[in-house]
Amino acid sequence: MFEPPVQRLIDELARLPGIGRKSAQRLAFHLLHVEEADALRLGTAIVELRRQVRLCSRCFNITGEEECSICRDPRRDPGLLCVVERAQDIAVLERTREFSGRYHVLGGAISPIEGIGPEQLRMKELVHRVETESISEVIAATNPTVEGDTTALYLARILKPLGVTVTRLASGLPVGGDLDYADEITLGRALAGRKEL
Ligand SMILES: [Zn+2]
Repeated sequence: MFEPPVQRLIDELARLPGIGRKSAQRLAFHLLHVEEADALRLGTAIVELRRQVRLCSRCFNITGEEECSICRDPRRDPGLLCVVERAQDIAVLERTREFSGRYHVLGGAISPIEGIGPEQLRMKELVHRVETESISEVIAATNPTVEGDTTALYLARILKPLGVTVTRLASGLPVGGDLDYADEITLGRALAGRKEL
C-alpha cells in the first residue's frame, strides 16, 4: 500500500504491544516528517538497547553488566528477597524507598488459561537462590490479579519447606491491575503492611 520502507516500518510498529495499524501509520508518517536527526536518534536508541543491555545473571533485572547494580550493592539486605513479575516492577518498588533487600524477576505469572506454568517462569532459579543465599523472607510482589495471587500461593507452597518466610503485599492495591497502577505511597504502605502467607 505504501512505499516498501514505509510499509516495513508500519509493520514493525504494529507488532508492538498496544499499537494498532492506525497508530503505526501515524507514527511512521510522523517519523518521516520530523528532523532526520530526531528519527535517527530513535533508531540508535533501539539498537543500543539490544546491544548494551542484558539481564542480570542473578535476579534477571535489566543491566549493562553481568550482575545489576542492586545485586552488586553491598548495602542491600541479603535476607530480604522481593519477587516480581517483570523487570519494570523493580523501578516501581524502588521509587517507594521502602525496600532495602534484593529482587527476583519471574518473567510473568502463572496463568493456566495462557498456558503459563511454573516451568515457563524463573522458579528453578528462585529456588536455587533461596537454597544458596542467606534469604530469610521472600516477598511475593506479584500483581494484584488472579494470576498474581495464584503465583504468590505457589511461591509459599514451594519455598516455605525450604525454611523461609513468604509474605504478600498488603491489600489496598488496585485489584486487577499491574503494580505500576499504584502510586508510591500506596505501594509503600502495601510493602510495609505485608502479611505472611
Ligand atoms: Zn540483579
